[in-house]
Amino acid sequence: MTIFKKIIDGEIPAEIVYQDEHCLAFRDVNPQAPVHILLIPRKEITSMAAAGPEDHTLMGHLFLKAAEIARAEGIEANGYRVVVNTGQAGGQTVHHLHLHILGGRALMWPPG
Ligand code: AMP
Repeated sequence: MTIFKKIIDGEIPAEIVYQDEHCLAFRDVNPQAPVHILLIPRKEITSMAAAGPEDHTLMGHLFLKAAEIARAEGIEANGYRVVVNTGQAGGQTVHHLHLHILGGRALMWPPG
């Protein structure tokens, strides 16, 4: 079981900023920007690469909610970044699909 599943199940605490029947958003414990939120599906999907056609609606929901959360966090006007680290070279460390929502400062490109 991943640490994110434990957050979904309420077994470990998190600073939740949004939730609905499909997803949950909470602040990253090790923020890389003034605003750093993780948005995860309640469904256990190990990575973006593991999402299938049956997740079509869910994937769209996550991206639309990411935009809503960014707006609610006040980072829309200046701009923000949504990142989905995928697999080892992609820097994924928790094997439950998650969108990083980062903002509140100018973000570098390309990423490291
Ligand atoms: P990734 O490297 O893309 O898999 O991202 C995993 C993220 O989860 C990292 O940014 C961690 O700081 C974050 N993280 C790990 N454990 C927790 C936790 N218990 N609560 C909040 N964020 C966490």
